[in-house]
Order: sequence, then structure tokens, then C-alpha cells
Amino acid sequence: MTPSPETTSPVVELVDERAARRGLRLFLKRDDLIHPELPGNKWRKLRHNLGPAREHGTLLTFGGAYSNHIRAVAAAGGIHGFATIGVIRGEEHLPLNDTLAHAERMGMRLTYMDRATYRRKHEPDVVEALRERWGGFYLLPEGGSNAPAVRGCAELGAEVPGFDVVCCPCGTGGTLAGLAAGLAPPQRAVGFSVLKGGFMTGEVARLQRETYGERRGNWSVQDGFHFGGYARTTPELDAFADDFAGRHGIVLDRIYTAKMMFGVLALAERGAFPEGARVLAVITG
Ligand SMILES: *Cc1c(COP(=O)(O)O)cnc(C)c1O
Repeated sequence: MTPSPETTSPVVELVDERAARRGLRLFLKRDDLIHPELPGNKWRKLRHNLGPAREHGTLLTFGGAYSNHIRAVAAAGGIHGFATIGVIRGEEHLPLNDTLAHAERMGMRLTYMDRATYRRKHEPDVVEALRERWGGFYLLPEGGSNAPAVRGCAELGAEVPGFDVVCCPCGTGGTLAGLAAGLAPPQRAVGFSVLKGGFMTGEVARLQRETYGERRGNWSVQDGFHFGGYARTTPELDAFADDFAGRHGIVLDRIYTAKMMFGVLALAERGAFPEGARVLAVITG
């Protein structure tokens, strides 16, 4: 089974006193329910890359050993019939972890790149060396964020009229870049960076320029909810996510959606959203 072009995801209202106290209505867009192998934003980001991948016959991409992107690309190749090569940061560790073992089962060839080279992975000499080794391939950048991916995420924006503020987590920023471009004013988007360093605003703007030639839509990035950085967590975040699962029966992943939801409710409690606003949080995976 594969998501069809019409595939969309349900919106559910989240009854939570922390938002209600502030006169807000809070909703979740359950993109995590789109497909078991190609959840949420990974499906949206891959859709418009599938055609070129099939034309080339092989897709090569990059990721860390626990990357949801690597996992989704491997599944897409298995489902849609093109070869996939995953260039993994760092050394091989055996036995393979769950993500990489699964990717290999879906037919992905795994190769490893030392961390110093990996930092320069998108530079011409590194890409050229990969072409010499692996032959022709369609290159998808780390995290899958390129112009076709941004266009796929703009379709998410177009699916959610009637909400005043739409929130998503940010890893590479591709999801926010597209989502914001797909909203209709006066709707606005708020991204919650899961990385520390304060560079997400620049990345989102760069991806919009790459896709549309200009910055689009009304959006901003929150840099204060990374909890120490990528894949880091704290007792406070863990307690929040456990409490959220108990209240709402929804398990938030610690890397992305827990940080966003913590941020959404923190902003709500700070009065950052106007009273009466309809706030939608995208459960991206
Ligand atoms: C990959 C991923 C993201 C990050 O999306 P970007 O487009 O890279 O910002 C967010 N949420 C989940 C669940 C993901 O797997």
C-alpha cells in the first residue's frame, strides 16, 4: 500500500485546559497517520522526488544512523521500485540498529562517511567521488529538503484553511518553508527548532528562495525549545511527554513533536496567541 496523491490526514481537536484557560482552541493535524512506513512530513517531502528518482533508477541520500529520513527513503525505494543508497554519518556499528537494519531490509545499500568528510558532503568534490563510486544517481540532500520537498509541504499548508496559527517542528526547515508558503494570509506558521544554534530562520529563508526565488508567507522560528539540541532530552521534556500521553493518549516522539507541543503550550500560557485563536499543531511523524 502506498499513499495516493489525494492522501490527507485527519484534524482532531485537543481539549487541554492549558490552552482553554487562554481562550484558545487547539487542534492536531495527524500527519503521523498518513502511512506506517512513510509517515507525515517524510511522505510530503518525498512525493515530488519520486518521479526523478525513478527516472534515474537510483536515489542517494545522507543521514545519521537514527535518521527517520533514511528509513523513509529506503521504504519509498522499496515501494516505488528504485534503488536507494544511504550515506551514513560516521563509522559502521554492528549489529545494525533498528533504523539501519530496517533500511537494509527495504533494499537500501548502506555506506559510511567519516565525520569530517560528512560535514562537506554536499560539496562538488565529495559528490563527484560518490558518483565515481556509485555511478549515476538522483541526489537528495540530508533530511530530504530541496525544492520539490518544499512544494510537497506547501500542499500541507493548503489543507488547513480556517486555522489562525499552524505550528510544526523544524529539523532542516523544509517542512516549515513549504507549510508557510502554502498558507493563505492572515494565517501564520510557527516553527520550533529542535536544533540549537539559532540558524533555522536562515535555513528556512534559504529553502524558500531556492524553491520560489523569494521569501514567502508569514512565519517565524522559536529557538528556545531545543532542550539541549538534536535528540537531546531533559527530565522536564520527558515528564511533559509522559503527562501528555496520559492526558490525551498520544505518544509524542522526543526528537520532534514533544519539543513542538511543549513549545506550543508554553507560548499559549505566556499569552503569545491572541484570545480566540484557532491553533493547529502538525504531528509530523
Ligand atoms: C524529519 C522530521 C521533522 C523535520 O522536518 P524538516 O523538514 O527537516 O524540518 C519533523 N518531525 C518529524 C517527526 C520528522 O521525522
